[in-house]
Amino acid sequence: KTVVNRIAAGEIIIAPSNALKEMLENSIDANSTNIEIGVKDGGLKFLQITDNGSGIDKDDLPLLCERFTTSKLTKFEDLQSISTYGFRGEALASISHISHLSVITKTAKDECAWKCYYLDGKLVPPPTGGNSEPRPIAGKDGTSIIVEDLFYNVPSRLRSLRSHSEEYARILDVVSKYAIHTGHIGFTCKKLGGSSTDLVIRKDMSRRDRIRTVFGSSVANELVEVNVDADLDIGLNRCYGYVTNSNYENKKSIRPVIFINNRLVACDPLRRAINQLYTTYLPKGHKPFIYLALEIDPKDVDVNVHPTKREVRFLNEEEIIERISSGIEAKLSSLDS
Ligand code: ADP
Ligand code: MG
Repeated sequence: KTVVNRIAAGEIIIAPSNALKEMLENSIDANSTNIEIGVKDGGLKFLQITDNGSGIDKDDLPLLCERFTTSKLTKFEDLQSISTYGFRGEALASISHISHLSVITKTAKDECAWKCYYLDGKLVPPPTGGNSEPRPIAGKDGTSIIVEDLFYNVPSRLRSLRSHSEEYARILDVVSKYAIHTGHIGFTCKKLGGSSTDLVIRKDMSRRDRIRTVFGSSVANELVEVNVDADLDIGLNRCYGYVTNSNYENKKSIRPVIFINNRLVACDPLRRAINQLYTTYLPKGHKPFIYLALEIDPKDVDVNVHPTKREVRFLNEEEIIERISSGIEAKLSSLDS
């Protein structure tokens, strides 16, 4: 059973950046206003995310890393919210099967924080010995999750990873994109032991300034705001964002930032449709910067087409993409004339 769980976990969490993405989403869902990430050896040795969100009830700690327990499911009133948040209740469970996981958490009503350790879905004693019960320690409201020795028991995964610096770059990429999309939250990301912080987004920064911090002024100064009309008939509840204007030439391809229902996704058909628009404006090989946030009727979205949730499927895909690209085209040509 442990081996089966470990293999399943290795399908969901395929790199440190996947683990980080899941934990980041949990911190955002917990209404945090500040999220700090610390990384050692590309996230393989040590990956820590600390938030100032709601914290986890001490009573929930024993089940935190169990997969699909009914007690976890009762927290969600209906299937609708499950699909909204891509609920599967297995991120932390998966991580606990392929790393040494520890949690420090405090809710506002608790007097102190609680620290506990997990392995294979269950509470375990700390490495120093003792029992597996959560133990009281000093701490602030919020949650800190520490993942150590990721993939220590999945040698095939370890072999398929890139260098520490490349894995760290992917982590920084995920954090940066969530920082662009998620306003009112401050983010930092750094290598532990390093002297500099690689990403600092203050919580009061505007979205344009967030884009500037991540992608530089050359992009931020050339942005066009996009607001596509909703079309409830095809399930498009909202679409807004920023793209670079039709004069902005950039040969090095900037990876698009596309969110559907507040989850970072790769939506290649949408990216291609937008790049296509710019071929009438830009020299060959030059691509726009794209940040788009779509809200699609949750019942139309399937987030579980791929174990890592990187890809999504949604109903009326062609119509929705067509609607968005013609909205952007209209905006660009109105500025052009
Ligand atoms: P899911 O997010 O699908 O429920 P996870 O394994 O990612 O599954 O998380 C399990 C649960 O643990 C969450 O639903 C949430 O209740 C709790 N949780 C995880 N991380 C945090 C956090 N940073 N702050 C508060 N609660 C958290
Ligand atoms: Mg989660």
